[in-house]
Amino acid sequence: MQTSDILIIGGGIIGLSLAREVAGYGLRVTLLERHQPGREASWASAGMLAPQGELSEGAFLQLCLESNRRYPAFRESVEEEVEIRCYHREAGTLAMAVTDEDEAEFRHTYERQRADGLQVEWVSGEEARRIEPALSERVRGGLFLPGDRHVENRVLVPALEMSCHMRGVEIVCGAVVTNVLAEDGRAVGVDTTLGPYYGGTVINAAGAWSACIGVPDPALRPPVFPVRGQMVAITLPRPTFLSRVVRSPRSYLVPRHDGRLFLGATMERVGFDKRNTVWGLHKLLSGAMELFPELEHCSVQETWAGLRPGSLDNHPVLGATPLPGYLLATGCFRNGLLLAPVIAQEMAHLVVSGEASDLIAPFNLARFAAAEVVAGRIPGA
Ligand SMILES: Cc1cc2nc3c(=O)[nH]c(=O)nc-3n(C[C@H](O)[C@H](O)[C@H](O)COP(=O)(O)OP(=O)(O)OC[C@H]3O[C@@H](n4cnc5c(N)ncnc54)[C@H](O)[C@@H]3O)c2cc1C
Repeated sequence: MQTSDILIIGGGIIGLSLAREVAGYGLRVTLLERHQPGREASWASAGMLAPQGELSEGAFLQLCLESNRRYPAFRESVEEEVEIRCYHREAGTLAMAVTDEDEAEFRHTYERQRADGLQVEWVSGEEARRIEPALSERVRGGLFLPGDRHVENRVLVPALEMSCHMRGVEIVCGAVVTNVLAEDGRAVGVDTTLGPYYGGTVINAAGAWSACIGVPDPALRPPVFPVRGQMVAITLPRPTFLSRVVRSPRSYLVPRHDGRLFLGATMERVGFDKRNTVWGLHKLLSGAMELFPELEHCSVQETWAGLRPGSLDNHPVLGATPLPGYLLATGCFRNGLLLAPVIAQEMAHLVVSGEASDLIAPFNLARFAAAEVVAGRIPGA
């Protein structure tokens, strides 16, 4: 019989960060992954750490800001442990307006964020072109968000996996979890295609697939679903072309340490479909050329799509469920890379203490019983 203190379903950035954190408390952790760890949304991601990227507010804004504050220590601790550099960038984001509507949207964001005491500056088109000289003459200016960061997710996530191994986490690949097992009113393990696994606590961190795991009662199923994001990687015209993330309401551009530029991302409710489409690629490429006309000559290197774990109110689903011993760490939607440190640390605290901190308590499953949840709205879709 396979027994652990903690069973974690899913080896994306959330499952890996959480497994690593919980193992740091000396608990025996088994992570069950149906394929290879870190090959789904956490690999597809652009790696932006952008707590002020949208007009977030309240508890969600606090969660994002706190995770961003914790990022340097989180990243450095992984880097030191596995002796790998995760190529972070601390240069902030430029959010640039091209049309009247863009400018109105960003002015509104600017006023709101200033009123909330957040770090945000307004820059004119000329100022923006002084910062990023390749920007189009059509850019009218917009926001500079100095606190935004970037991390190479395709380095950080494998580094987290290595760290898990070093901390004694058992990672089982090829184990498709089919359902949660309960006895005497509490979770005792899971059934998988490799047989049952037993553990004192079961944590569902299966990303966009979290609602596919069978549960003894439908009320335990998180309202989580896939939201496709298509991406393109192109070659930078020259190494110094762009030194920070730049976005408009239609696209974003992320310079990577390997000389490539990632263009993202669409937001589509099309089920578990990871194909790239003509519409999607056209949207990303035209959005990028609107900001940087010079890109029309660049070669396309790679296209892909990933499935974000969306939720009914676009916020994560964290913490206890009505079934004792069964916890959720899912629904991170557009911010799973950013939220990994705070979710891992606060969920680990919940596991060892039984208490949900003020940071994660508002994101429990029970909130979906409340009438004010705005069902299925996707910002920017
Ligand atoms: C195109 C794109 C761009 C993005 N850009 C950003 C960004 O710039 N910044 C940011 O913060 N976030 C971004 N995101 C969002 C971020 O990638 C996700 O929120 C995050 O990766 C979610 O992590 P996860 O661990 O929950 O899910 P995943 O990384 O999808 O991992 C879930 C894991 O669970 C496994 N699994 C599923 N079902 C089972 C099962 N039954 N049994 C066993 N294992 C199972 C899967 O195989 C997978 O490995 C982006 C997402 C996309 C798609």
